[in-house]
Amino acid sequence: MQIVKTITELQLIQKFLKISGEKLVFIPTMGALHDGHISLINEAKNKIKKLEISGKSGKILVSIFVNPAQFENFGDSEDFKKYPNTLQQDIKKLENSRVDYLFCPEISEIYPEKKQGDHKGTSLQEEKIQLPEVFSALEGETRKGHFEGVFQVVKRLFEIVQPDYAVFGQKDFQQVMLIQYLQKKYFPNIAIITAPLFREKSGLAYSSRNMRFSEEEKLRAVILYKALTEMKKKFLAINNHPYKNTEFSTDTLADIGREILESEKLVQKIHYISMRDKKTFIEIGEKTSQKKYPQKGDIILISVEFSGIHLIDNMIL
Ligand code: AMP
Repeated sequence: MQIVKTITELQLIQKFLKISGEKLVFIPTMGALHDGHISLINEAKNKIKKLEISGKSGKILVSIFVNPAQFENFGDSEDFKKYPNTLQQDIKKLENSRVDYLFCPEISEIYPEKKQGDHKGTSLQEEKIQLPEVFSALEGETRKGHFEGVFQVVKRLFEIVQPDYAVFGQKDFQQVMLIQYLQKKYFPNIAIITAPLFREKSGLAYSSRNMRFSEEEKLRAVILYKALTEMKKKFLAINNHPYKNTEFSTDTLADIGREILESEKLVQKIHYISMRDKKTFIEIGEKTSQKKYPQKGDIILISVEFSGIHLIDNMIL
């Protein structure tokens, strides 16, 4: 695997790929790699196999960049400072997965120095980004400025890497919607591939933040999965029943999830339990929405503060 740190080195790779006629499949990450990330690499490999069947070929580029702009206070937060850094192990994992290139730039490579003004002399806050309203809800509300930061960094990474394909995981469902919005607006030539949410055997969704948990905390964090599965079970039981009745409400389902989450002391705060239409992302609810009842294929999203760490999870009904 070739490891590159600068845009100049990356441009050499791009020239090489142009000459050899190969496609580039890009997987952006913040490192601390786990099997969820590896599942994205496997999606990329599947894409390349398909290309090969039609007589083309492709290479995989993973980036590792912990983006300060998507954390609270532009990187001055504890969450940013404590974000796990396991670069040497990450490199081994990527080599074992036969990834072709790793791009791991310094902050100044992505947010170049500006002469005056900006945070720590970089252009972190250079762009005023106005996102559609849907990105002010859920994670956009819980983590103010988060999606603006993600939008900014992925836009820069796409401009720099110029991939043909880019892979994102549905673990961050709202983020996938943001990337699709970005792609439509600025990058019609990049095809977005989405990968399903990947879980540990216990049901816990893989996340780099899990590394900050003790074994016991990890076991107890399965409560998110439990809440989602119980909500889904209830939904299926009612949905499959010949006489749907008043129980068939989003409030009832949310109450089931809430009760389960509240039974775990390490859940310090429930940010939201939300049911949304998977395509339009409108909130489902009897009082609030034109879509009153959940249907098969809709999505439940939850977000909690668990033992001081922000965790999200989701499940398709
Ligand atoms: P991160 O390093 O957390 O920024 O994640 C990089 C990419 O991996 C994003 O597209 C995530 O959605 C994806 N990802 C992280 N965890 C999982 C998971 N458990 N299952 C599927 N994709 C994931």
